[in-house]
Amino acid sequence: MVVELISVGTEILLGNIVNTNAQYLSIQCANLGLSLYYQSVVGDNEERLRDAIKTALLRSDLVILTGGLGPTVDDLTKEVTASTIGKRLICDEHTKERISSYFKQINRETTESIWKQAEVIDGAIVVDNHNGTAPGLIIETEEGKRIILLPGPPNEMVPMFQNDIFPYLNNLTPDIIYSKMIKICGIGESLAENMISDLIENQTNPTIAPYAKTGEVHLRVTAKASTQEEAKELIKPIIKEIKNRFKDNIYTTHEKETLEEVIVKLLIKHNLMVTTAESCTGGLVAGRIVNVSGASSVFNEGFVTYSNKAKRKYLDVKKSTLRQFGAVSEETAREMATGVALNTESDTAIAITGIAGPEGGTEEKPVGLVYIGCYVNKNVVVHKYIFKGNREKVREYSVVSALDLLRR
Ligand code: ATP
Ligand code: MG
Repeated sequence: MVVELISVGTEILLGNIVNTNAQYLSIQCANLGLSLYYQSVVGDNEERLRDAIKTALLRSDLVILTGGLGPTVDDLTKEVTASTIGKRLICDEHTKERISSYFKQINRETTESIWKQAEVIDGAIVVDNHNGTAPGLIIETEEGKRIILLPGPPNEMVPMFQNDIFPYLNNLTPDIIYSKMIKICGIGESLAENMISDLIENQTNPTIAPYAKTGEVHLRVTAKASTQEEAKELIKPIIKEIKNRFKDNIYTTHEKETLEEVIVKLLIKHNLMVTTAESCTGGLVAGRIVNVSGASSVFNEGFVTYSNKAKRKYLDVKKSTLRQFGAVSEETAREMATGVALNTESDTAIAITGIAGPEGGTEEKPVGLVYIGCYVNKNVVVHKYIFKGNREKVREYSVVSALDLLRR
């Protein structure tokens, strides 16, 4: 079933409010396994709204509109929808009563204009609004199309969708949706996509949707089937193939598990302590580790050693190393990692030194150059990276790469 969303409201067009309804409904459509192909935003304008509804009905089976159901003159969605499909508005007694009791409940007098909201499109299924006045409407047209009208305020729209619309739509699609997440790091987004482009191109069921996060790529594999077992069977060979292609780059296949959680688990499993020595990331790696509850059993202390002086004082980086190779160098990263591990008596350590920019780059050492040292049981490896992006991105990439290096 092809779905289309139309968000109605001039304030969305102007950027005065963020279209969170569209975001919410897009996620819900994906959860329901509906194919959402189009989204649009229309201002409170009769002609353009009519155009948008007509266009949507030509190319989609289900059109969901949000906003413009209220009592004011700029609320046109119901009226325009009705006239576009050749229906009239009729008074719905049940809604009228509900609106009266709603006003009694909030201790306010009703105004004449409020009764506009008791009018519904002839033949529509009326969906009660438990958090406001305007009801939602579900219209099933003679041509086999469906139109759903929902109130604009998210605190009214979301519960209405959850309670009534989701079950209604779920009944239309007998298939269940099952999905599995594969989280990958240490590999660029475009390379990751290239590695599975053949799988993505040929997909129908299951489908593979890649999402890029800074330094990570998440792949969601989704299957539709009549039972969960069937869907799992459909997914299995694709998951196996993806695992084969990405191997060690996959850090988890659990939906909610983060990279730092995987690391803390690993450290606990091997009974290892970790410490950090951070220059350009200023404590972000330590912060990510400490985010995980249970981190105290693997993490005692970490250092932010931004200046050369601090690198010498706390990490025993040699003056001669700094002078000869500079603070951003393989040698410094190596000494930082070793120094911090020995000084804190930790089994493992992460050290980061780099140029996050925007200033400070040279031809030889450009902005984005980062060295990450990883100390594990008396061995140190140092990796060199050149990250693209602004200061924030370079620092984020550094954090993910450092965590990834420790994981391996
Ligand atoms: P009301 O009865 O409040 O007038 P309505 O159904 O007519 O409700 P609108 O007038 O279009 O809806 O919007 C009312 C308010 O709801 C907006 O001012 C905004 O705060 C919020 N809202 C509307 N549409 C959206 C949207 N797409 N995303 C997020 N918030 C929205
Ligand atoms: Mg309104």
